[in-house]
Amino acid sequence: MAISAVRTELTNWTMTARSACAIYKPRDSTELMEALSEAQTQGLSVIPHGAGHSYTDAALNTHGAVIDMTGMRRILAWDTEQGIMQVEPGVSLRDVIRIALPGGWWPPVTPSTAEVTIAGCVAMNITGRNAWKCGSFGEHVLSLRVLLVNGRELDVSPTSDADLFNAFVGSAGLLGIITSITLKLQRISSGYVDSAMRPVTALGEAFTIFQNERSADLLEALVDGFASGPHLGRGIVTRTTYSDVTDRASLRVPVSQVTDRLTVSLARYAGTIARPAVKSGVRVANRVTYEWSKRRNRGKPRRRPLIESAFFPLAAFAGYRAILPHGIESLQAFVPRPHAEAVFTEILQRSQALGFAPLWAVIKEHRPDPFLLSYQLDGFSLETYYQIVPQRLPMLQKMLRELIDLVIAAGGRLYLAKDGLLTSALYRASMGDATVDTFLQLKQRYDPELLLQSDLFHRVFQSS
Ligand SMILES: Cc1cc2nc3c(=O)[nH]c(=O)nc-3n(C[C@H](O)[C@H](O)[C@H](O)COP(=O)(O)OP(=O)(O)OC[C@H]3O[C@@H](n4cnc5c(N)ncnc54)[C@H](O)[C@@H]3O)c2cc1C
Repeated sequence: MAISAVRTELTNWTMTARSACAIYKPRDSTELMEALSEAQTQGLSVIPHGAGHSYTDAALNTHGAVIDMTGMRRILAWDTEQGIMQVEPGVSLRDVIRIALPGGWWPPVTPSTAEVTIAGCVAMNITGRNAWKCGSFGEHVLSLRVLLVNGRELDVSPTSDADLFNAFVGSAGLLGIITSITLKLQRISSGYVDSAMRPVTALGEAFTIFQNERSADLLEALVDGFASGPHLGRGIVTRTTYSDVTDRASLRVPVSQVTDRLTVSLARYAGTIARPAVKSGVRVANRVTYEWSKRRNRGKPRRRPLIESAFFPLAAFAGYRAILPHGIESLQAFVPRPHAEAVFTEILQRSQALGFAPLWAVIKEHRPDPFLLSYQLDGFSLETYYQIVPQRLPMLQKMLRELIDLVIAAGGRLYLAKDGLLTSALYRASMGDATVDTFLQLKQRYDPELLLQSDLFHRVFQSS
């Protein structure tokens, strides 16, 4: 029997978009091809969908079809000597870690959740707290198999055709559907990291620590979005290294489904109760963490489980949805090194002046990578999250659009997975016409009838 679609409504992860669509869930390549031709017969455009963890509309296709790739989740090959794994697109990062960790292997680049799919990580070319050192996810992919809309499967790698590979990585599902990924993992000797927190009184201090800590494996500055005036930019820089102890027993993913379910329920309950006090709660929590890091920690490393240090717990997501029922707006501003401090200062000041102090503000360092639609550059990113209060949403969005202008004027870039207010004109201004036109020429070559479309495609790649 041919694969059939279910009519449903999807949301993005930040809960800012609702999208009615038909959804197919193939279990293998044959069903995937059936889904594509079935959607074509129905006159529907299509977009692949991973775990749906993009903040934006990258995996939404309103009134079209969405192909849920999480049904294709087999590990196809695993070389424990070389740390090379070949997976189907819907395999989650958690699945990869579950298989790889006991042998002493770890993904070189991770986002702060393990629930994402590997194809989602490739299609958005995600980066982590080591972007300055290890680059983006695509830099650790050895090869991809992609199903093109004409039914042909294409194997592409940095050695077979670097330009094509660099275009497919980060292409947001718009050139073809990834059906397998071969990854190179990195060696680790234990399931621990050593983490040290350093308080900073200003943004400039955070940048100096980043500059001086080149032996760290991961670096991140958590900025107190409420600290203003002389305290603007106050925060904590966390420096983390993979622990060099050899402890094979620690190389495993904890399995505690009962505890997980309990903490998720508790977090949901606590989130609902805390809802009215979210801003004051964050303000106090930021202050307490800062003072604690000043008095107690003094930059001394503390050994922590690697998984706990790398990923938010599931309970945090349940708490977030309960505490912020209208969702969040986010901005991740990538700014060249010489302008980063001034632009980030302006982002924090303007946000505070308009009563939109960010609930969460994080700085990471980056380096350029070879991918066509790369958002990475030699500089820093500031990621800010804002609570949505429906009556004030137009004002918040107006401010965010102005901040996007500011970032672009400084030669900066934005991230298709996180910046939902980017328009095609602004995207062209940040990436340059030549880059966007090259991408659209490839789109014309591989998908001339525009079968692959998403809400992001209309917003960012088609003229407004
Ligand atoms: C809590 C949280 C923390 C995060 N932290 C980070 C971070 O630290 N760094 C970072 O860079 N990002 C981060 N992200 C963003 C997230 O990592 C990316 O959006 C990632 O792409 C999500 O993967 P997904 O499987 O959910 O993909 P989806 O969001 O479902 O899809 C993302 C894109 O991939 C495409 N796609 C999916 N499957 C395929 C396929 N088989 N073939 C071709 N295209 C496909 C979709 O069409 C879409 O364009 C975070 C997100 C959350 C929710």
